[in-house]
Amino acid sequence: TFVPAGNDAFQPELVRRYLEPYRGALGISDEELLSLGRVDARDGTAAFSMPVLAMRAADHYNGVSELHGEVSRKMWQGLWPDLPQHEIPIDFITNGVHTPSWIASEMGALFTRYLGPRWAAELDDAELWQRAYEIPDAELWQVHEHRRSRLVQHARRWLHGAAERRGAAREEVELADEVLDPHALTIGFARRFATYKRAALLFTDLARVKKLLGDPDRPVQLVFAGKAHPQDKGGKELIRSIILASRDAGLRGRVVFVEDYDMRIARALVSGVDVWLNTPRRPLEASGTSGMKAAANGALGLSVLDGWFAEAWRDHGWEIGWGIGHGEEYVDGSGDAREAELLYDLLEREVVPLFYAREGMGQLPRAWIRRMKNSIAKLVPQYNTARMVRQYTGKFYVPAIRLTHKLTDGDLAAAKALTTWKEHVRSAWQDVSVVDVRLESRDEVAVGEPVKVAATVRLGALTPDDVAVELYHGPTAGGHEIARGKVVRMTAVERAGDGAWRYFGEIPTGASGAHAVAARVVPRNDAMSHPYETALIRWG
Ligand SMILES: *Cc1c(COP(=O)(O)O)cnc(C)c1O
Repeated sequence: TFVPAGNDAFQPELVRRYLEPYRGALGISDEELLSLGRVDARDGTAAFSMPVLAMRAADHYNGVSELHGEVSRKMWQGLWPDLPQHEIPIDFITNGVHTPSWIASEMGALFTRYLGPRWAAELDDAELWQRAYEIPDAELWQVHEHRRSRLVQHARRWLHGAAERRGAAREEVELADEVLDPHALTIGFARRFATYKRAALLFTDLARVKKLLGDPDRPVQLVFAGKAHPQDKGGKELIRSIILASRDAGLRGRVVFVEDYDMRIARALVSGVDVWLNTPRRPLEASGTSGMKAAANGALGLSVLDGWFAEAWRDHGWEIGWGIGHGEEYVDGSGDAREAELLYDLLEREVVPLFYAREGMGQLPRAWIRRMKNSIAKLVPQYNTARMVRQYTGKFYVPAIRLTHKLTDGDLAAAKALTTWKEHVRSAWQDVSVVDVRLESRDEVAVGEPVKVAATVRLGALTPDDVAVELYHGPTAGGHEIARGKVVRMTAVERAGDGAWRYFGEIPTGASGAHAVAARVVPRNDAMSHPYETALIRWG
């Protein structure tokens, strides 16, 4: 996670003391152990970082959304200091939810009737989920309205119980039985109250929110739930401000905070609200999953373009809800006021009018229902655990199992060989260099005509079998920087003296404009899980 508090790091003395038994069992020195938890292994004072330890011990790395993958490559650049950021071997697999666990039973029955009984087993069958459009508007709306009134009943009961346990005055306990309106547009927000999630963003302008919620013809209400980490002062302060707002005379009964957030409460919320609000400071929300649970029940997203929602929004836009902003990133809290403003604008101009646009005999909000169906049909087949586990299996688990067998079969023969080879490569690496790179084509070539490149590299004690010599090439924006270069392998042509080799390669040209090329040497061994496992790379 991008949030510092989410990345445990310990002082070297503590690590020495408490990891001593492991160090002994592994037969490594204190410094070797400590270097496993340091971005820069040579920095003897740096704290011992748990994520770094995990990454140094792992073969595969991934973020939990596309944006989080990007953020992670930036964040962990230090582990592969000589690699262009986009080549850092951190992939992404977007999180998913186990949809059947989050679907209200009435909604599940509706799915069974119109999508067929296999909906729960075929979460990633996009075609099957298209049948969500066959659910009659009136039926979907009836089920949804029923779920909303169930949520209101639950909330009253929970608030009643909480007030009693607190020993609140009788009037307050009784008041709990009358909060919320089963017919009002209901916005849900339930999360850990980490400060970056900005639970109280909606209360930035109290007068404006009172006007919005208090409209007698088009009422709006907010249901909050969540817990703060006991040591997170800021998070607890957010909860306090929401409870204060819920007691404000101008908001009472329309803003509730439900204590002891757990999966039971989450289920009632995600299946009972009309809108799921999500206001993290981009790019701090790695994925977020509660919005997926809500979407599967037909709730519309109202969200900053962060985590999973950034992808969903890119693919589907307003069809599935509303994006707050356009993916801007602000320093610390400098964008809060601006994003609160955008949130109010969306609610006043888009969300509330759409919800209360009732048509025809049944007085149904047809355009709203259309978006509910979009959410179900377009988001469920993507943001589910079946798709997620399939991706983990294909991208990581199966290759990792194969590699494990390859390395460990026959009394670890290949693992031993790989270790010996890595030591050899590391000790020889100081003599590896790119001596020269020459274009054998003219300076100007036509699009489609390959550019021929020759290079001489010094490999010292290594041979062409130990390394890959690569051309990193791409368009430049005028200078020498290659923004997102592509890579082609060169082939060894001949020896060029003591420990030196001549290589040749061809770069395909696909576009006109100024291009640049660099040659580089990286260790190569099929027993490594990825080419940058040693983090060694020599550029010319
Ligand atoms: C889904 C869920 C979460 C995680 O929600 P995010 O949107 O990822 O923050 C946390 N707690 C409970 C009880 C949940 O059901």
